[in-house]
Amino acid sequence: MDKIVALCKRRGFIYPGSEIYGGLTGTWDYGPLGTLLKKNIKDQWFRTNVQLRNDVVGVDAAIMMNPTVWEKSGHLEAFTDPLVECKTCHQRFRADKEEEIKAHEKTHQGKAGWTTPQKFNLLVKAFLGIIEGAQDEIFLRGEITQGAFVNFENIVSSTRVKIPFGIAQIGKAFRNEITPGNFTFRSREFEQMEIEYFIRPEEKEGNVWFEYWKNTRMEWYLSLGIKKENLRFRKHEDRERAHYARFAEDIEYKAPFGWAEFEGIHHRGDWDLSRHNLSYVGDDGKKFTPWVIETSGGVDRSLLFFLLDAYHEEGERTILKLNPKLAPYKVAVFPLLANKEKLVNLARGIYDDLKQQMMVAWDERGNIGKRYYAQDEAGTPYCVTVDFQSLEDKTVTVRDRDTAKQERIKITNLSEYFLSRLS
Ligand code: ATP
Repeated sequence: MDKIVALCKRRGFIYPGSEIYGGLTGTWDYGPLGTLLKKNIKDQWFRTNVQLRNDVVGVDAAIMMNPTVWEKSGHLEAFTDPLVECKTCHQRFRADKEEEIKAHEKTHQGKAGWTTPQKFNLLVKAFLGIIEGAQDEIFLRGEITQGAFVNFENIVSSTRVKIPFGIAQIGKAFRNEITPGNFTFRSREFEQMEIEYFIRPEEKEGNVWFEYWKNTRMEWYLSLGIKKENLRFRKHEDRERAHYARFAEDIEYKAPFGWAEFEGIHHRGDWDLSRHNLSYVGDDGKKFTPWVIETSGGVDRSLLFFLLDAYHEEGERTILKLNPKLAPYKVAVFPLLANKEKLVNLARGIYDDLKQQMMVAWDERGNIGKRYYAQDEAGTPYCVTVDFQSLEDKTVTVRDRDTAKQERIKITNLSEYFLSRLS
């Protein structure tokens, strides 16, 4: 984990939030490479779940919502974690995180005393309005989910969706986490990607769709290269289930700090639509309240786990073996020597051309070996070197990140060569 944190800072994936002022606990800023990786994860998610399907549509709801939403959704009352305070040093912890509690007790030679657990609400408050004292207290959304529910009627009446159908959304959520930590794993500001999938309110349908979505989401992580042995399902026990869930299972990743939640699959029943007084009229004219199967994943957690899973060391080389679809840069273009104008011009032409279709990096510093290593560490799947032979026969060397193998490819075929390997 330390190596990933250092790599993220050094190469511009992730920096501590507001670092020049000492930071702000639980916030992170994504640098140039991190921004691209994050965008690629979100694009792949949207492509799989909306573009390639016929039954899921997108929504992009406001972060600030009428506070009644949070009253109806049950978050004002039940979106809580049990908080305890160490009587010796007054540090606060989540009472349900037994390992963190035990680790802290060790720092006091096992003699720490604890206050009785209190419910601590995770919603972050904000104040809206221009007149001081008369401002409206609102909440930054604690989950993006409610944006799909409050737009349920709008979407049904403005599109052709018919049950079963889903609403997909990606966006920021905010939680006043008691113990942010493990790098970006538990942050106070983070991004979620969710599908709310509406079905007929029948036990059998509920079970079938729950299994379907559980497996479909697992497949997605596997298809983007996460190793099978690092993933598992875990059923929620009764005591840990969220207030809205009939049953729930997590997809977990084997992180350096233990098995950790990647994504939650929740059977929300009719909890939300009932609470918002919303219903649906079927083709037979009968009105009913649909049930909802939810898939709720974290963009930041995905990014962290994709990085951890892709990290390799081979001798002196650090390689991020990211799936090419996720890699920040798809190709890097180098002129063999920076002071040979003809080489630079030819390489620039290739760079400008490929840039029309994909993210391309340019590097002309130091020797070629060092440039390859730098791209390996950034996860760039292919490097193109323009050398003296290129001037004569219009071919270049293409080097593969994972095998380090090189082959000569015609410049005119480059674009097709990469596009066929990136799709
Ligand atoms: P945890 O038990 O780890 O606190 P949770 O069960 O509260 O998570 P959900 O409410 O199910 O999480 O949120 C869905 C997804 O949103 C999670 O699987 C995770 O990927 C992401 N997520 C939730 N809280 C955070 C956070 N504090 N920081 C980063 N991602 C988060």
